[in-house]
Amino acid sequence: MKDATAALYIVATPIGNLADISARAIDVLSSVDLIAAEDTRHSKFLLQHHGIETSTISLHEHNEQQRSELLLSKIVDGNSIALISDAGTPLISDPGFRLVNMAREKGIKVVPIPGACAVITALSASGLSAERFTFEGFLPPKVTARRQALEKLVSEPRTMIFYESPKRMVGCLQDMLAVFGGERKACLARELTKMFETIVTLPLAELVEIVIMDTNHQKGEIVLLVEGESTVADTDETEQARVLQILLNEVPLKQAASITASILGIKKNKAYDMALKLQQK
Ligand code: SAM
Repeated sequence: MKDATAALYIVATPIGNLADISARAIDVLSSVDLIAAEDTRHSKFLLQHHGIETSTISLHEHNEQQRSELLLSKIVDGNSIALISDAGTPLISDPGFRLVNMAREKGIKVVPIPGACAVITALSASGLSAERFTFEGFLPPKVTARRQALEKLVSEPRTMIFYESPKRMVGCLQDMLAVFGGERKACLARELTKMFETIVTLPLAELVEIVIMDTNHQKGEIVLLVEGESTVADTDETEQARVLQILLNEVPLKQAASITASILGIKKNKAYDMALKLQQK
């Protein structure tokens, strides 16, 4: 690419390993007229590493409104501008929403240049279901608000993904344990693509224990993932009751519950409670 066409380019940059940037991203960053960066000093390192000499201007949460107006007027005048954040994909828990929103309202072309994002990177290696997921961003820092936010998610069937600061990690995991229960699987993905990359997926009770015991797990950049509530149990209770009833007519209660749990993939204690209720009817 020689000169980038006048447009707003949303360019993903690495989340750790400087090599995790696409050839297209380097091409765009080298050929635009100006790069808007969350922190120009931070991004200088990446740009220098890839031999990119384009001028930079800051765009962060405190100046986004007024900077967006300036940048969009430059695009209207025929310039091309790229937006980058300190790491990963702009707008994902990073500035840029107002800029993109205003650009689209003004009919200015917005071109995404995809690349690294900690949410997707963590999910892809977590071992938790990636079929359906919800990204919750950062939980509230205050304990009461965090508990309330987690309680709202207690019946969420999709894999839940959170960004968390290392200093709040233990408290956050303990709250997750209290709200979701010790059996629910969770993944701690820290320092992704970096030297001390660690990805651990365990039931919450075990995960909390190892994180408290090994303080290395409390350092660096962290993504937490929690598996969704098993939907099998909720989607087909009529079917569960039907299978249980057939078995209750043939075998003792405990065995009926155990076989039902195996056949339908539900928790044994859930099948047991249901069998008790059926027998009392
Ligand atoms: N825009 C970024 C993205 O696309 O992922 C996220 C920016 S947000 C301000 C920073 C948070 O992302 C960190 O606190 C951490 O939760 C997560 N994160 C970023 N890089 C990470 C990495 N290498 N390993 C684990 N988590 C990371």
